[in-house]
Amino acid sequence: TLTGKIAIVTGSTSGIGLGIARTLAAHGVDIVLNGFGVPAEIEAIRNDLERAHDVRTGYSNADMSKAEAVRGLIEAVMETLGRVDILVNNAGIQFTAPVEDFPVEKWDAILAINLSAAFHGIATALPLMKKQGWGRVINIASAHGLVGSTHKAAYVSAKHGIVGLTKVVGLEAAGTGITVNAICPGWVRTPLVEKQIAAIAEQRKISEEEATMELLSGKQPSRNFVTPEQLGETVAFLCSPAADQITGTAIAVDGAWTAQ
Ligand code: NAD
Repeated sequence: TLTGKIAIVTGSTSGIGLGIARTLAAHGVDIVLNGFGVPAEIEAIRNDLERAHDVRTGYSNADMSKAEAVRGLIEAVMETLGRVDILVNNAGIQFTAPVEDFPVEKWDAILAINLSAAFHGIATALPLMKKQGWGRVINIASAHGLVGSTHKAAYVSAKHGIVGLTKVVGLEAAGTGITVNAICPGWVRTPLVEKQIAAIAEQRKISEEEATMELLSGKQPSRNFVTPEQLGETVAFLCSPAADQITGTAIAVDGAWTAQ
C-alpha cells in the first residue's frame, strides 16, 4: 500500500491535479497541494482530504513559471517532511493561436510551466529519491505529447518535450528504485477545456452541448471524456509494485485519440 508516502502534486487546486490528489489521498498518501485559487476554497479541499482519508496535507502557492519557486517548493518539502516519494508534475496552461500570431509571452509561459517546471522539480527531488532508494516521478503530458493539432504550437512543443524528458530521466534513474513516466490524457472536462468548448460554441454559433460533441468527435473516438479520477488511479497504479519495471514510457489514456 501507499500509506505514509508523501506526494507533491503541482497544479492540484483544480481539475486533473485535484483528481490525482484526491485519489492518492484515498490510497493513504500525504499530499502537498500546489496551485492558484481562493485561500478559503483551498483550506476546504485540505480539510476534506484530511477528514475523508485520514492523511496529512500541506499547500504551497509556488509559481511553477519560476525556476527558483519550483526548486524552493521541493526543497521546503524535503526540509520539513524529510521525504519526497511521489512527484506529480501536473501544473499546465493552454493558449491557442496560429504560429505566426502566437504571442511570445504565451510561448514563454507555456514552455516554463508545462515543461521547464518538471525539469526543475525532477532535478531537485532526484538526489533525495536516490537516497531513499524509491521514488515515483509522474509527468502529466497529453495526447499532444504524442501527436500535434493546429494552433497549439507552444502546448504541443512543451508536451512532446516532457515526453522526451521522461525518457531521459527514466534512463538515468533506471535501477535506482525510481521510475519516471508520462501519462498522456485525451480530453478531460476541466476549466482548461471548458474554455475551448466555449470558444468553439462562440465561433460556430452553436450550443455548448453541440460544441462539446464537436470537440470530442474531432479527436477522441470513444466520445467520452477521461475523468480526473481515472487519471488518479493511473497514477496510483504507477506507484504500485506492479509498475516497478514500467519506466521511461508514456501511457496514453485517451479513448483511442492517438491510435489513429
Ligand atoms: P486546470 O486549469 O483545471 O488546472 C490547472 C492547475 O494548474 C490549477 O491548479 C492551477 O492553479 C495550476 N497552475 C496554473 N498555472 C500555475 C503556475 N504558474 N504555478 C502553479 N500552479 C499553476 O487544468 P487541467 O485540465 O486540470 O490541466 C492539468 C494538466 O493536465 C495540465 O498539464 C494540462 O496540460 C494537462 N492535460 C489536460 C487535459 C484536459 O483535457 N483537460 C488533457 C491532457 C493534458
